[in-house]
Amino acid sequence: MNKIVLNEVMKGKRSVALGGHVRPDGDCIGSCMGLYLYLKEQFPSVQTDVYLESVPDAYRIIQGTEEVKTTVKEDEVYDLFICLDCGDKERLGFSQPLFENAAETVCIDHHISNEAFADHNYIVPDASSSSELVFTLLDEDKISRAAAEALYMGIAHDTGVFQYSCTSPETMETAAKLMRKGIDQSEIIDKTYYEKTYIQNQILGRALLESMLIMDKRCIVSVIRQRSMKFFQAEPADLEGIVSQLRQTKGVEVAIFLHELGPQKFKVSLRSKKIVDVSEIARYFGGGGHVRAAGVTMEGTSYDVINNITARIALQFKKAEEQDAEE
Ligand code: 5GP
Ligand code: MN
Repeated sequence: MNKIVLNEVMKGKRSVALGGHVRPDGDCIGSCMGLYLYLKEQFPSVQTDVYLESVPDAYRIIQGTEEVKTTVKEDEVYDLFICLDCGDKERLGFSQPLFENAAETVCIDHHISNEAFADHNYIVPDASSSSELVFTLLDEDKISRAAAEALYMGIAHDTGVFQYSCTSPETMETAAKLMRKGIDQSEIIDKTYYEKTYIQNQILGRALLESMLIMDKRCIVSVIRQRSMKFFQAEPADLEGIVSQLRQTKGVEVAIFLHELGPQKFKVSLRSKKIVDVSEIARYFGGGGHVRAAGVTMEGTSYDVINNITARIALQFKKAEEQDAEE
């Protein structure tokens, strides 16, 4: 995939909007804010705005998050819309009309399921994060500390703090370069990744307590229902990290986490360790993501959803066993 030359796409533009996916996570916020801060500093005469559905409190330590726009003005038209960390344009959510109306569009992403839906696409499925991709588009000397903080945060989140298999030598080199900008990396990791509110810990505890091992203990599944969300006064953003914790369970290959969005409607998060391609499963049911981390929204009872997903996992287990037998 050809790299985008920022100076070229910015040429002649008077207004630029950036947007990320619904329920933005660390990499989505990091890549949007990193690029936003850089563009504002390097192209001061261009009107630059960033659109995100919401910014959870933990991410407020990133500079500029107070400027994030959470609503769209009708008939607002930008010369350029840059879509970040978004596997398909529907996932832009409320900012999708800005994408549709913009004179020109750019997509910077690392989802394997991305079908290159913009005028200019920079999609690298092997990249750890959209934040790492943004870094490669910038002039390193011109990256401010604030922009470095945002990008470092995004990389740290999508790599599970440099642990997941998507972490490459280039990822570590990028992190080192960002560190040299004088960022406080310990604080960024602690405050945005590890620190949990009391509510977040309570709902995590509930999810772990009620989790079940299935498929010969190779999968773990847990469901959080709306009534639990109400009981603990939890917001959807409070559920981030639960599926990763489930995945840590010894002996487990796949973690399945269901969050009840409404009657017979679930947001499903999938994580795997080594064998199962969860992006294939998420895509099969209309979602997307990465090989080891993917998601989808599904309808039916929780039993229907779990049965449908485990049937696909079983197929992959079978295929892997057949391959092993051949070798
Ligand atoms: P999570 O489980 O944390 O919500 O998402 C894991 C990964 O899958 C993220 O990279 C996220 O962008 C992607 N993902 C989650 N839900 C969906 C979905 O409904 N559609 C698509 N295309 N991607 C999703
Ligand atoms: Mn990402």
